[in-house]
Formats: sequence, C-alpha cells, structure tokens
Amino acid sequence: MLDRREFLRVSALTGVAVSTGAAAAMPFAATVAGAAAPDWRALARGLDGTLIRPGDAAYDRARLVFNSAFDKIRPAAVAYPKNATDVAECLAFARRFNVPVTARSGGHSYAGWSTGTGLVVDVSRMSGVTYKSGRATVGAGARLVDVYAKLAAHGVSIPAGSCPTVGVAGLTLGGGIGVVSRKYGLTCDTLASLQVVTADGKLLTCSPTQHADLYWASRGGGGGNFGVATSFTFRTHPTQNVTVFFLHWPWARAAKVISAWQSWAPKAPDALWSNLHLNHDPSPDVMVGGLYLGSQAGCERLLQALADKVGASPSSRFVSHTTYQHAMMIMAGCSTISVDQCHRGGDLPGQTASGRLVRDGFNAKSHMAYGPLSAAGINALIAQTAIPGSHSILLDALGGAVSRVRSDATAFPHRQAIFSVQYYAHRAGALQWVRAAHNAMRPHFGDHAYVNYIDPELTDWRAQYYGPNAARLAKVKAAYDPKRLFRLPQSI
Ligand SMILES: Cc1cc2nc3c(=O)[nH]c(=O)nc-3n(C[C@H](O)[C@H](O)[C@H](O)COP(=O)(O)OP(=O)(O)OC[C@H]3O[C@@H](n4cnc5c(N)ncnc54)[C@H](O)[C@@H]3O)c2cc1C
Repeated sequence: MLDRREFLRVSALTGVAVSTGAAAAMPFAATVAGAAAPDWRALARGLDGTLIRPGDAAYDRARLVFNSAFDKIRPAAVAYPKNATDVAECLAFARRFNVPVTARSGGHSYAGWSTGTGLVVDVSRMSGVTYKSGRATVGAGARLVDVYAKLAAHGVSIPAGSCPTVGVAGLTLGGGIGVVSRKYGLTCDTLASLQVVTADGKLLTCSPTQHADLYWASRGGGGGNFGVATSFTFRTHPTQNVTVFFLHWPWARAAKVISAWQSWAPKAPDALWSNLHLNHDPSPDVMVGGLYLGSQAGCERLLQALADKVGASPSSRFVSHTTYQHAMMIMAGCSTISVDQCHRGGDLPGQTASGRLVRDGFNAKSHMAYGPLSAAGINALIAQTAIPGSHSILLDALGGAVSRVRSDATAFPHRQAIFSVQYYAHRAGALQWVRAAHNAMRPHFGDHAYVNYIDPELTDWRAQYYGPNAARLAKVKAAYDPKRLFRLPQSI
C-alpha cells in the first residue's frame, strides 16, 4: 500500500541534526540571579507524576523534542505531571524559585520552544480520550494518532493535523490545519471548552460562557502564552469511508500543475481537501495529494477536472476508497504499521515499546497565501524548488469551512487565506535554502504567517501571526499572566 510518506520522500525522518542559526538560540536562561536555590527534591516528592533530572537514567531521552536541531538544550528538569494539581505544583515551584517554565505536549514546535534550560512541564501522561454524546474530551498530552484511533472506535473524529506524533495541545492552541478542515474547520473551531492551569495555579474551565476571553485566545493564539492546558473538549463529527489520492505529473508540467491546483483546490467542494507538494530529493518532483469525504467515483470526477485544467493526465496516480481511520493512517505515513507502532519508540509518556517513528532534523518557514500566484510567482516557486538539495514546498488548501468563520471570532486570523505554504528542508544548507525560498516568495505571498509554524526570524511576528487580533491577545495575556510567567522569545 502506498502512503503519504512514500510519496513525499520528505519524511525520511533521519534524525540528522542541522544548523538552525537563530532558531537554535535557547529560549530561556536557567534561573534568575538572586533567587533561592530550587528544591528539586521537594518538587519531585510533591508530584503524583514524575520528575526527571540530569543524572537520571531517562534524562537524555526525556529532554529531547521532535526536531533534533535542539538536542543540545539541557533542561534543569522534565516533569511528567499526572493531573492538573501536579501542573499547579510545577507552576508554584517556578514562581517560588524564579525558574523559567515551559509546557510541552508533542514537542513539535518548529523553533524548539517546548524545551529550555528551566523546568519543562510535559503533559504527555494526561492523554486520555473519552467520548460521550457528540463530545470528545482529550488530555492535553494526547498524540494525534491516538486521538484518531480512539475516536474511530466510536465512529467519530475531529478535524486535526496529519502528523501522528504532533500533540493535541500545541496543534489546537495555534489553530490546527488538517485534511478535513475544508469540511469541518480548524481543530480549534470544534473546541467546545478547555481546562487550563494559569500562572497563579488556578484550574480554569474556559468556554463561551466561562473565561470567554481566554477561550477565544486559546483558539489560535498559540501554545505557551497563557497557561498550561490540561484537557480539551471537542465537538465531533461522524466518520464515513473516504477516498485518498496522490497524483504525479512530470516536473516539466510543474507550472501548469501549480496554476491549475491553486484555482481548483481552494474552491473545490468542502468535502475535497488537497495539497500540492514541490519536492527536491534528489531531483525536482510535483505531486498533488488529498482526501475526499465521499465515493471513489465522486472523487475521480473532481480529479478529472484538475487534469483538464493541467491539460494532461497524471503520469502516475494512486486513488483508494478506504475507512476514515485507515485514511488517517495513510496521511500519517503509517498505513503499513499499527497504531502502537505509529509512535516514537521508548518507555516515556507519549512513546510506545513497539514505536517505530524516529525524530527529524529540519528547518522550516511559512507563508499564508491570501490570493493565487501570478505567472511570475509560479516561476519563482519553481525556481526555488529546482535548486539542488533536499527540500520541499508544501501548499495546503484552505477555504471551505475555515473561511466561513469570522477573522475575529477566534484568535486565528487567516480565515481568508486560500492556502498555507511551508518551506521545509533537511541536511546541510537547509537553513540557507529555507531563508532564501521564504525571501524569494515574500513579494508574491506577502508576510502573513501561521503561529503553529513558528519562526524565530520573523521581525513583525505579532502582525504576521495575529493581524488585527494581536491587540485583544495582549489584553488576555495581561489579564491571565500579568507577571509573564510564560515567556517565549515571541510571547504575546
Ligand atoms: C512534522 C510536523 C507536522 C505538522 N503537521 C501539522 C499539520 O498537519 N497541521 C498543523 O496545523 N500543524 C502541523 N504542524 C505544526 C504543529 O501544529 C505545531 O508545531 C504545534 O505547535 C505542535 O504541537 P505539539 O504539542 O506537538 O508541540 P510542542 O512543541 O509540545 O508545543 C508547541 C507550543 O505549544 C506550547 N504547549 C505545549 N503544550 C502545551 C499545553 N499543554 N498548554 C499550553 N501550551 C502548550 C509549547 O510550550 C510550545 O510553545 C506540524 C509540525 C511538524 C513538526
């Protein structure tokens, strides 16, 4: 069975560390001068969960995040709280001893901003998924592969991302673009309520009627800003069999494919989601992949409309009607392994003994495209892809349900963007290529960016991530974290 990973060839997941320039800068200083020495033993004793410190056998595994570019960062401790009380205990400790604190869920922050040299509060132990009457309650440390699999048992799902080991917390707090977003919205659009431990140690339930401003900010304002989320309650949708597809054209057709795709994908029926991959590894390649919430025949009709626009049939194609759950495994690159195996291997929370997935070393940047590319923009995209190296440009279609939510209804402002754009590179020269591609495409895409593709090198990041929502986010920050316990290099 073909799957997304094989098609992309971007997911070799080699674990190769690469130079990240500014991105590698440690976000936190270890402790603040003049504060009393932190009593780590007392913290460990006070937790129902566990605390891992330098010297412990698990430390050199517990400190690692998904991107191996940040392997040199050594936290003072990694806590795995068992419940919200443990989280509050960790925050009280951070306040008392002036220890920098950062939350971690799946550890996929592009900038490595779920680690640091202080206390990492990893919520992976809080990963339960329960379902009742159209609502799913998901622990903040759940990985997407487990969310999909556990909800599949009830015949329901939520719109979420495709990477199996991304954490539900980081994804939801920043928005959450996924393969059924055009039909069901962003992950944050289906969030009915969440529980957050705020800087003062209180556990708040946030919903349209309780702490509504924090609920608003938690839907697109980005992780690590307002508190440590411990659980999310989502409205679910029933699942059905779906059609998955991957189409290749010869590289010589790339301009036609880009032009056709950008007028087809954002305006397709909501049931059809697709993305365009421009890959170079070892030679340039163009591919359209996606998912249709319907029959194979219905999907084939829509794909024919794309081929007609391109003016040529694909040179290779894979179209398959399958269960919703299997489609998510295909999109995850896990179609030939079990859910258990579709994890990082290990015995730490969030890992499984049979896990086969490994970490990655990469650099990435992004744009949000608010309009189609001109002919000059298409040529620029092709020229950037054609540069020798190991890199990809990924365009994910938006529109549909995402665009029917007002730009200020949640903190995620990019409702009228027609697709997102990611520049993603591995190996030596990755950062240089990513920077050059981002710069070359700026005149064509503008400066909008998605906070979940967080980028330490953006200079006007407040406007780029949040647009007109930045001012309201600053008010929420001042209300819930007035002393700025939660600090990132790009904190609201
Ligand atoms: C391989 C890969 C594939 C991806 N695919 C998609 C995709 O399909 N769609 C999409 O929209 N995005 C995608 N992303 C981006 C992803 O959504 C973000 O990187 C997201 O922030 C990751 O969440 P995490 O919990 O795994 O990461 P983490 O690094 O753990 O957290 C990210 C940020 O949120 C904070 N945070 C973590 N847990 C909590 C918590 N409990 N409470 C408060 N703050 C918290 C962290 O401090 C950090 O600042 C992908 C990223 C990667 C690396």
